[in-house]
Amino acid sequence: MNGIASLSDEDISRIVKSAHEMLDQYNLCDSCLGRQFAFLGRNITNSERGRALKLYLTLVASELIEEGHKTEGIALLKTVATHGNFSGAVATLKKLGINVDPVQACYICEGFMEKIGTFAELITKKLNNWEYRTFLIGSRIPEIVIDREDVLRAKFNIKYGESIKAELNREIGKRITGLEKEVNFESPDILAIINPITQDIEMHINPLFIFGRYRKLKRGISQTRWICWNCEGRGCDECEGKGLRYEHSVEAFIAEPILKVAEGVEYKFHGAGREDIDARMLGTGRPFVVEIKEPKKRFIDLKWIQEKINELAQGNVEVLDLQYSDRATIRNIKALAQITEKTYRIIVETKDPVTLETIKHADEVLSGAVIQQRTPKRVVHRRADKLRIKKVYEFKTTPIGETKLEIIVRCQGGCYVKELCTGDDGRTQPNLSDLLKTQVSVIELDVLHVA
Ligand SMILES: [Zn+2]
Ligand SMILES: [Zn+2]
Repeated sequence: MNGIASLSDEDISRIVKSAHEMLDQYNLCDSCLGRQFAFLGRNITNSERGRALKLYLTLVASELIEEGHKTEGIALLKTVATHGNFSGAVATLKKLGINVDPVQACYICEGFMEKIGTFAELITKKLNNWEYRTFLIGSRIPEIVIDREDVLRAKFNIKYGESIKAELNREIGKRITGLEKEVNFESPDILAIINPITQDIEMHINPLFIFGRYRKLKRGISQTRWICWNCEGRGCDECEGKGLRYEHSVEAFIAEPILKVAEGVEYKFHGAGREDIDARMLGTGRPFVVEIKEPKKRFIDLKWIQEKINELAQGNVEVLDLQYSDRATIRNIKALAQITEKTYRIIVETKDPVTLETIKHADEVLSGAVIQQRTPKRVVHRRADKLRIKKVYEFKTTPIGETKLEIIVRCQGGCYVKELCTGDDGRTQPNLSDLLKTQVSVIELDVLHVA
């Protein structure tokens, strides 16, 4: 006995009966009918399922007529022709001399499921304004459409049908997947959301993230742009019309050329910590991520833009290691900046000359010390006053003049090293000034290494 022979009439007719009952009560397009049987079969679209059912019902009706059940056969053909808008049934009736009335739109979707090709074209047209590799299609299905499908499903006790939204998104997506374009559910370059009734399309463009490391080779450059306090950026005498408190910033040197090339609307600069304006950032540089909002271009030759940035920055700032990145990297570099090791070179001036012995003792106390540090006076006006516990791994002092010392400090990230030297009126404990028993002021500061 083969498989088909083992099927009973009931087995075969259950689905067909169900489809017939649905069409009897509702106008349903191919997709909306087929979607109620979406769990049946693989690699078949809902539209194909719906069409197959309508086709099958047409064959059943024709057989009924052939076998003398003309009334039943014609009634069934009329249902499939009108409520199902099925051309095969319309033509079969016409051959029998029966013309049917024009059909109404689908009860569930009002016909928009038959415009998937149009939606795909509209979205593709919009997508072509941007460079992208991955995308995702979303849709805003009016509540009333979902309600109508729920009503139908409740009536026919359908538990496993697919949602209209899932079908629409997938079917549009299939028609867009082109050369090297693919659907990405996690973090697509572009998310396009369509309202199938109004045909409005919202485009959500994922920012472009570029990671790199920067070196700041000159002092007096702020990491971020500082708008002039006096004029709030409009330009005044105090800022020489520039609107900025400091003419140059690390972020402008790095992010502006990228913004221009990417044709984005704005940038955000995320540094892994920051150095003081008067400190240089040397060695292998400080990690950063540049975020470009709504980039039109995202396939940028990073080697080329790196050279371009370095050329335009004219020795003020230098970038290295540029690579494509993501939002998670911003969190990582910011979190790591608070703990990873940093090495600084500091030049300090002491009020009185100090002996080599005193210096040696200070180095011994501070190397390996756990220091308690309250938010420095110079920043407490803009940051919360709190106590930080930071570790100093190494503290090495070399006299370079009567009252001048060069210090190399290796310590935990987030440690205020200027205050480690000056003491900040006792807000940092222990500190170099106390140990040398004289006032200490910082003349120069460089970051030599950020791990
Ligand atoms: Zn429909
Ligand atoms: Zn100003």
